[in-house]
Amino acid sequence: MGFLDIFKKNKAKGAKVVKNVDAKADKVVKDSGAKAKAAKPAVAKAPASCAAKTATSVSASQLPFSDLVEPGPLVTYKHGFGTPPGGKIKLAIYWAAACGGCDVSILDSNDGVLTVGEMADIVMWPIAADGKEKDIEAMNDGEITVSIISGAVRNSENEHMVKLLRKKSAIVVCYGTCACFGGSPALANLVKGGKDELLDYVYRKTPSTANFQADYHKDKAVIPQVSTTVSDGDLSLPVLYDTVKTLDQVIDVDYFVPGCPPLQESISYLLKAVADFVYGGVALPPKGTNVGVVTRTLCDQCSRRKEFRRITKIVEPHEIDVDPELCLMDQGILCLGPATVGGCNARCTSVGQPCRGCYGPTAAVQEQGASALTAIASLFPVIDDDATCGEGEIIDIMSTIKDPLGYFYAFTMGKSLIKRSVTEKGGK
Ligand code: SF4
Ligand code: SF4
Ligand code: SF4
Repeated sequence: MGFLDIFKKNKAKGAKVVKNVDAKADKVVKDSGAKAKAAKPAVAKAPASCAAKTATSVSASQLPFSDLVEPGPLVTYKHGFGTPPGGKIKLAIYWAAACGGCDVSILDSNDGVLTVGEMADIVMWPIAADGKEKDIEAMNDGEITVSIISGAVRNSENEHMVKLLRKKSAIVVCYGTCACFGGSPALANLVKGGKDELLDYVYRKTPSTANFQADYHKDKAVIPQVSTTVSDGDLSLPVLYDTVKTLDQVIDVDYFVPGCPPLQESISYLLKAVADFVYGGVALPPKGTNVGVVTRTLCDQCSRRKEFRRITKIVEPHEIDVDPELCLMDQGILCLGPATVGGCNARCTSVGQPCRGCYGPTAAVQEQGASALTAIASLFPVIDDDATCGEGEIIDIMSTIKDPLGYFYAFTMGKSLIKRSVTEKGGK
């Protein structure tokens, strides 16, 4: 049941719900020990127009994420909350360097998305609704209740828009792996020469563009320019950056929802938490909460049988008859499950594909790629009493991994300690 269903179901329970919410708030404060006095949430008196729409509180155990933290003490946001005019919250959804898949995951609520309008005024959502930058600029600071931002920050327009939305929003949600960890856009950080080398490759050297330039622009290849003068005036494009950044490397972020894309339930949970806060005074989850993840690794969510076999060959799924029940690593297929936080309910491994790590590492690990390498190293038969595989053989096996950096950091390069490739001069 999505939050909008819950929201509708409880329309008639307004007064009772506020009472329950009050009791829950007291419990939360009691549990929070020394912070109790300062943190007790004042139960917001819902405006008359929306009192009947007050939502009940749904405990984490009712959600698909068993380890999701219970709402903690009320967090005070520097931008504050305004009373939602007309009983609706204001919602902005923006994509920076994104593929659109995250937006589609929000639309995946099927007909539920149509009823978002019942609880939110959508002030911006490029993929689905109109909404101009100048309208956002004209708003008061903190006037937008929540902004959901997907995608990494890779150009000047991305940076401008996320900073603008931060200024105008009470809550900013970092939505999807590209925003949380850089995702596939941040793999461009491995191009040593930065944006110039990237543009040169994409517009001059790929087979399709090389042919196009050779056929139509023999004398001077056409490469995108920041500004161009045409008969109707000057046209401009955003400035491409050398280094792709994660959202929290550019602005302050309140919540993180990893996944490529995240499960639809994650955003339902988060929007419901915001609605509960605005209409019912229920404490929000603590700032910085990762929504939709559990505390264990993906292996704990994966139903495949683990035999911890030692391997001497790395294979791709299409090269073997994949045993539908046995752990993929036991079959020699590189799976990043041991280095990835659970939350997706093992979407890929359940259909015979290895996990590529899109939910990012667990909270205990910063470097997902290194963590994956450690897990793989433990599969080789090099323990003292089983030294059947020497250093040379291990190097041979590992060298069969195509594009190791791209494999182990497919989603998290933006947050890795490696950061980016540099030229020998160390210039970029
Ligand atoms: S996280 Fe995945 S689905 Fe979302 S924008 Fe990035 S690539 Fe697309
Ligand atoms: S390594 Fe992959 S296939 Fe094996 S148990 Fe972990 S997630 Fe499942
Ligand atoms: S199995 Fe891995 S790659 Fe697939 S959705 Fe889950 S975290 Fe992402």
